[in-house]
Amino acid sequence: MTQQTLVLIKPDGLKKSLTGNVLTRLSETKLDIVAAKIVKVSRELAERHYAHMKDKPFYEELLKYIMGEYHKRKVMALIYWGEDAISKVRAICGSTNPEEADPVSIRGAYGRITTKGVYENVIHASTNEEEAEREIKLWFQPDEIISNLYPAKIVKEKIEKRAWA
Ligand code: UDP
Ligand code: MG
Repeated sequence: MTQQTLVLIKPDGLKKSLTGNVLTRLSETKLDIVAAKIVKVSRELAERHYAHMKDKPFYEELLKYIMGEYHKRKVMALIYWGEDAISKVRAICGSTNPEEADPVSIRGAYGRITTKGVYENVIHASTNEEEAEREIKLWFQPDEIISNLYPAKIVKEKIEKRAWA
């Protein structure tokens, strides 16, 4: 089944210069990258991304982590597309808890648990198709993706935006 999945290289991954390693590991999947960018994560984006974790005791720490307060204020966001993309990427990521993750997986090799109990696990990857759709639409606009993953519409907006001077 052809799928798309959202991948985030989290701020610890960027701080530790792991971008190249992570992308190399993910290339084993032979999936296509159909979108990629560096994002400065706002509190609003962090809250929406982790809306399902709202009741966890580590929620505030988790927001600070993904916003880069402990590392660098940036995340690399990508969309991988292809046959069984979701499970292929998750397999290379490894388990959520880096101590339980296969040592050869990205999280097993590079993740850690902070003294505050947060799993700094280097990478995010969508867990199912519904989550992938929600997350991709949260992190990317249709024009930032080189293929038509979901139906989109043309909207006319009069907006002010920055342009090259
Ligand atoms: N997390 C954590 N402690 C936990 C569970 C989750 O610090 O007991 C963090 C971890 O960074 C994880 C993120 O919250 O990646 C989202 O949790 P989820 O259960 O969705 O795990 P994932 O889908 O990322 O494997
Ligand atoms: Mg998850």
